[in-house]
Amino acid sequence: MHLPATGAPSPERQAPAVPFGTTVEVPDLAEPAGDVSSYRRAAQAAGVSAHTLASWVKSGLLPEPPWTLEELAEATSSPESTRLSAAHGTASRWRAGCSCPDCTQAHTVDIRQRHRDLADARFPVEQRTRFLELLARGLGFAEALDDLGVAARIVWGSARRDEQWRRQLEETLMATRRTDLRHGSKAAFRAGCRCGDCRKSHH
Ligand SMILES: [Zn+2]
Ligand SMILES: [Zn+2]
Repeated sequence: MHLPATGAPSPERQAPAVPFGTTVEVPDLAEPAGDVSSYRRAAQAAGVSAHTLASWVKSGLLPEPPWTLEELAEATSSPESTRLSAAHGTASRWRAGCSCPDCTQAHTVDIRQRHRDLADARFPVEQRTRFLELLARGLGFAEALDDLGVAARIVWGSARRDEQWRRQLEETLMATRRTDLRHGSKAAFRAGCRCGDCRKSHH
């Protein structure tokens, strides 16, 4: 199929000369003559399949036809179109509006990972190391938290997700626990000890 060449104007409809350096609208894109109403032609112009184009309309990325070439170009280069062409079973495709089981599952995994990343960012490795140092220096659990400005649930959350860190934390809590408390008693927990024994007694 041959599309009429629209790029180079023929001599008889040459545009009037414009002073050099002036910014002008590109007429090919804005003119009604540039409208593309058939899915097949539009898809060809956008360099995608007609099926993809239809999904763009369905998702609202494109209005109903006809479209200008400019609209097609915009849609093609948008991040949204990249997402729409993503495969099923991806979070990108879910965000693009697909709710098939594979995409929904991928989305759930993605959200969980985002929450983890966010939580980990709130308690990064340097802070974890610092936290252990503070405990080793004799600060209580709550005091060390205060010093860092970190909430206890952030610490326990990170320990649940990261086994190596959990071991380090448990070992440090054990090694630095006070010797004047009876560990595993409610009293010791109330006194602020968070060693494994005291936490068990609390539950
Ligand atoms: Zn899907
Ligand atoms: Zn204890």
